[in-house]
Amino acid sequence: AALAEIKKQDEVLNSFVTVDEEGALKRAEEVQKSIDSGELTGPLAGVPIAIKDNMCTKGLKTTCSSKILYNFEPTYSAEAVLNLEKAGMVVIGKTNMDEFAMGSTTETSAFGVTRNPWNTEHVPGGSSGGSCAAVASGETPCALGSDTGGSIRQPSSFCGITGIKPTYGTVSRYGLIAYGSSLDQIGPVAKDVTDCALLLEAIASYDKKDSTSVKRESYDFTSALKDDVKGLRIGIPRDYFGEGLNPEVAAAVKTAAKVLEEKGAVVEEFDLSLVDYAIPAYYVIASAEASSNLARFDGVKYGYRTEEYEGLHNMYKKTRSEGFGPEVKRRIMLGSFVLSSGYYDAYYLKALRTKALIRQAFDRAFEKYDVILGPAAPTTAPKLGESLSDPLQMYLGDVYTISANLAGLPGICLPCGMDTKGLPIGLQLLGDCFKEEHIIRAAYAYE
Ligand code: GLN
Repeated sequence: AALAEIKKQDEVLNSFVTVDEEGALKRAEEVQKSIDSGELTGPLAGVPIAIKDNMCTKGLKTTCSSKILYNFEPTYSAEAVLNLEKAGMVVIGKTNMDEFAMGSTTETSAFGVTRNPWNTEHVPGGSSGGSCAAVASGETPCALGSDTGGSIRQPSSFCGITGIKPTYGTVSRYGLIAYGSSLDQIGPVAKDVTDCALLLEAIASYDKKDSTSVKRESYDFTSALKDDVKGLRIGIPRDYFGEGLNPEVAAAVKTAAKVLEEKGAVVEEFDLSLVDYAIPAYYVIASAEASSNLARFDGVKYGYRTEEYEGLHNMYKKTRSEGFGPEVKRRIMLGSFVLSSGYYDAYYLKALRTKALIRQAFDRAFEKYDVILGPAAPTTAPKLGESLSDPLQMYLGDVYTISANLAGLPGICLPCGMDTKGLPIGLQLLGDCFKEEHIIRAAYAYE
């Protein structure tokens, strides 16, 4: 059924870079046998899932939506993908994204833009836009995305679906092609909170192959699915409702807070006062890490190599000039600059100090609150083409999501209304590290 839906819709939506029809059908048959024999019993057995194209899938093309990896077939699968397969899920294909997850609209993909299923003149958000459009359109019941600065939460918001960015270290990054290693986390996107919690339970694991993986006390995320927020302390940062926030988004989010209050949560406004610093700190740190992580794509080890060249240095240069798109080049240049001698202290070190202050501000907030509630993005989905001409404007759109990555916090985004143009509005709930339980509880009670 999922494959039929993709056939029907994907020519317009372009949610997928690769559809693995043959592999999926074969795997589905095997899974069916294991279900029939009683070997596989869990709730995810036999359920189709799509994977963002920055997670390695053995023998199945993994491109990061970049020309430089256009033909790359990994020899192993990401740990998160293996975990899904253990639960009996069927991978149906790889979804489109901003090139190397750099962007907020899925327009920087080398394989064409993905369209928003609610209105195909609008973007689905990004960078996990393919995964979110695929879920919103019913091409797949669920998908995996990755979130470095909001790439699960913001496209979930634009597509009217639910997505979770787990606490840093909860899901193994082994086999996730790195963008900003200290910020990247894999997470689920699906139709509702229950499906997301089930998927998170399946993908979360301690993995010694990822040096930042954390051994958690519990990997139970579904016990929090209780319609009960009595006494749950919810803080709303006043700073999140300032200049630049679309009034329709503000109204929908405030109404959502009222609903939770009526259900028994204790809701209060407070000052988080770090909004102004999150964007500059994030773009310095993420670009610095990206410039280092992307050094490996040199035409020797993976993917694309330029056709004509003179000597090794010229081969590197031509391969990278031709293989990377403009947004990726911008980040590599910015990152190399802030890491270069003479500028390191002024930019990179200062950004790290800012990150520490942001973490402290959240620590103080979580002494008083269990959940921080706000919008996921300042607007609903913009029209295709509107954001590309002005990268700075696009970076500013990440204002509500990126501080969670800088502090390692878990966050969930779920739908909380529609604007007058018929585009979805998203509600974001942030929790303290390792407290997914709180945000899942609040989200489930609200939905
Ligand atoms: N829009 C942000 C960026 O371009 C976040 C992307 C992400 O989370 N992968 O860096």
